[in-house]
Amino acid sequence: MLVNDQLDRWDRESFFHPSTHLADFARGALPNRVVTGGSGCHIEDREGNRLLDAFAGLYCVNVGYGRPEIAEAIADQARELAYYHAYVGHGTEASITLAKMVMDRAPAHMSKVYFGLSGSDANETNVKLVWYYNNILSRPEKKKIISRWRGYHGSGLMTGSLTGLELFHKKFDLPLAQVLHTEAPYFFRRPDPAMDEAGFVAHCVAELEALIDREGADTIAAFIGEPVLGTGGIVPPPAGYWTAIQDVLARHDILLIADEVVTGFGRLGSMFGSTHYGLKPDLITIAKGLTSAYAPLSGSIVSDKVWAVLERGTDENGPIGHGWTYSAHPIGAAAGVANLRLIDELGLVQAAGETGAYLNAVLRDALAAHPHVGEVRGEGMLAAVDFVADRDKRRFFDASDKVGPRIAAALLEQGVIARAMPQGDILGFAPPFCLSREEADEIAGKTARAVAQVLG
Ligand code: PLP
Repeated sequence: MLVNDQLDRWDRESFFHPSTHLADFARGALPNRVVTGGSGCHIEDREGNRLLDAFAGLYCVNVGYGRPEIAEAIADQARELAYYHAYVGHGTEASITLAKMVMDRAPAHMSKVYFGLSGSDANETNVKLVWYYNNILSRPEKKKIISRWRGYHGSGLMTGSLTGLELFHKKFDLPLAQVLHTEAPYFFRRPDPAMDEAGFVAHCVAELEALIDREGADTIAAFIGEPVLGTGGIVPPPAGYWTAIQDVLARHDILLIADEVVTGFGRLGSMFGSTHYGLKPDLITIAKGLTSAYAPLSGSIVSDKVWAVLERGTDENGPIGHGWTYSAHPIGAAAGVANLRLIDELGLVQAAGETGAYLNAVLRDALAAHPHVGEVRGEGMLAAVDFVADRDKRRFFDASDKVGPRIAAALLEQGVIARAMPQGDILGFAPPFCLSREEADEIAGKTARAVAQVLG
């Protein structure tokens, strides 16, 4: 086994880490962590630390770490057939079975699933399908995509453009011209504190209507949104938001892409966020929870309405010119089948709803009264704490004070991983669905201590 300092040197000399301050990392100013194992809700590192992972990796290890059922399914598939492609009608028992399992769980009006590898490429697929759809319908001008500020949809060229967070645009020449952004459904940060929830929803709708008017509905193809804003702050929508938004989209013949990369397969305590909030999407993006990240796999679920046009398109133009070498990779598919079976067998969707509600309640009890806590919010196994410099005036801290990252660091010192969300001083929680109530208590208690340490 390699000694730690040698790995440390190789890491800093050779490894380009994503979403990292590259210069700090290279000069050793940013710590690294070599993760060696995991079990349930905990990971272990080479230094012998055992950490309670209250963010399930990147909200993806939904069934928890160290599940032998999934590991064995992966090993069996690798031994039997590690790879074959899925082009021109090829498949494997695993990929076909997983497609059936996904469609059995998806909302009733959905038709087929295309498999990719990451949430980003699945969103890229969905945008291409929307463009193809409008070309087949002879509407070549109807191509722009509306996303929300604070939405997160990946970090490719198109998907990084859809993402509504400054960090993902700055110095990358993004967003691309076909992307438009509208108001985030973030009630706590509403522009006018005098607005009530219904008034704020009316404001979001008015902003969307104004954007559509300005651009022309005949230039707008689709609206993309996460049922619950994720990386933008973990923000459940205000009551009535999705119904009101869908009314606008229907009136202007604009497709809805539900990005369920975080919410798909149970995180809200429902199989899909779309059913949880009454969305009727034309396309659904899935990834993380499909395999609980035991192998990379994503998907684009296509509705009956879109599928009919895609079929027509290939009758008119020949095979669809879209595919990845690793689409429906057998090892990912085998992991997906084992993962979805495990979720059913252990009742983990229900557990996510119940333990998630408990986690939200104990976080509220532990933190809501703190003078620098503006809001504790969540849904299912998602929770967030929004910090404020002045609660009465709803004044936020200066970003340079790094309040969120300092609280996350203080919590990590106590052995709990939460995520300082990238925009605003927001601490996010998204544990595995197998979280116990004792672990939820530990998260809340230690978070309160970390907040007291940083903010008094
Ligand atoms: N969509 C949502 C809602 C996400 O949260 C993410 C990743 O966090 C993505 C898309 C992108 O997925 P990936 O990082 O697998 O490309």
